[in-house]
Amino acid sequence: MSTTDPAGTGTDARPADARPAGTTAAGRAADHGADHAADRPAAELRGVSQVFGDFTAVDGVDLSIRRGALTTLLGPSGCGKTTTLRMLAGYSAPTSGTILIDGEDATRTPPEKRGLGMVFQSYALFPHLSVAENVGYGLKLRRVPADERARRVAETLDLVGLGHLAGSKPKKLSGGQQQRVALARAIAIRPKLLLLDEPLSNLDARLRVQMRAEIRRIQHETGLTVVLVTHDQDEALEMSDDMVLMRAGRIMQQGAPQSVFPAPANRFVAEFLGYENFVSAADGTSLTVRPEHLVVEGSEGGAGRPAASPAGGLHLTGTVTDVAYRGVDQLVTVAAIDDSGARVRLVSDVRATGTSSLAPGDDVAVTAPASRLVALAD
Ligand code: ATP
Repeated sequence: MSTTDPAGTGTDARPADARPAGTTAAGRAADHGADHAADRPAAELRGVSQVFGDFTAVDGVDLSIRRGALTTLLGPSGCGKTTTLRMLAGYSAPTSGTILIDGEDATRTPPEKRGLGMVFQSYALFPHLSVAENVGYGLKLRRVPADERARRVAETLDLVGLGHLAGSKPKKLSGGQQQRVALARAIAIRPKLLLLDEPLSNLDARLRVQMRAEIRRIQHETGLTVVLVTHDQDEALEMSDDMVLMRAGRIMQQGAPQSVFPAPANRFVAEFLGYENFVSAADGTSLTVRPEHLVVEGSEGGAGRPAASPAGGLHLTGTVTDVAYRGVDQLVTVAAIDDSGARVRLVSDVRATGTSSLAPGDDVAVTAPASRLVALAD
């Protein structure tokens, strides 16, 4: 797909000035020599809240956006993701707290002075302008001279693989192509931050998956700092350098997907990331284990004392309530009693090939090794 790196070498063949300021190796070195700008977060929220009437949409958020990284704000509908992004963009002022962009207090800076690019769920392209004119729009507003503008539009269209459609009107383009034009328009101004609000949600499932990879590629090639809002955990896991899980206006957990996914901090995060089995250990610890790590086997005469402990693993007995065949795998649901005496529903996800012929009503042993158990804070 890459038009700037046809050999797929992973190197950026574009002239250094085609990339956002401070993102080239030379730019980084210069910034570093000057004032350690490369080490400074691209943006920071310090104690930021947004209150609408008596409703607190964002509640004292502290967040550091790493330069050159893709950060996702992830969480269920209404958790405050868009409100947080809008405050970063300058479309709404925080009720309290401070927003820093590039180390400078931007809390009261209007959107057009923040130097940010933004792409919304609706692409909001100008229908009467050509693709090239749409992409050049922000440059024109910034009074970039025509020849420089033409060069940057061409480079940016190449970056998103749309050079051949420069003269087309948006309505002639597919949804995916329109999305790329919107991206190109936001990137052409070389934004300090690229803010994306559910940019893929209007695309069909296949295109959405393609565009995830495409946005990652563009981000790698440009070195842009990207903040993306999504409610889709797969999208966040696949795309993020840093992911920030929000609930009711607060950050529940943040970090690289590789560190958050295997170790959710609490039940909310675990459930959001697809953990299904929650049991209490004898000492009151709340434990969870992913369905694919839970082993269900026929038990003959019951398997000892029901037990779950962070160190000893999970050993429960129960009764199969459902077996669902799903092609590549099979879900076995078991009703059991945990150490607190609570009735728990456990789901085991096993590869369909060679699985036993378990059926509802069967007595089973449900086990998981200690290494697969995650202790939750709540
Ligand atoms: P979604 O995925 O549905 O967009 P979100 O996580 O982006 O959700 P926000 O749009 O940030 O959530 O909204 C957070 C909460 O704040 C919601 O309950 C919403 O109804 C409320 N809210 C947002 N904007 C306003 C406003 N201008 N006035 C009053 N309430 C608002």
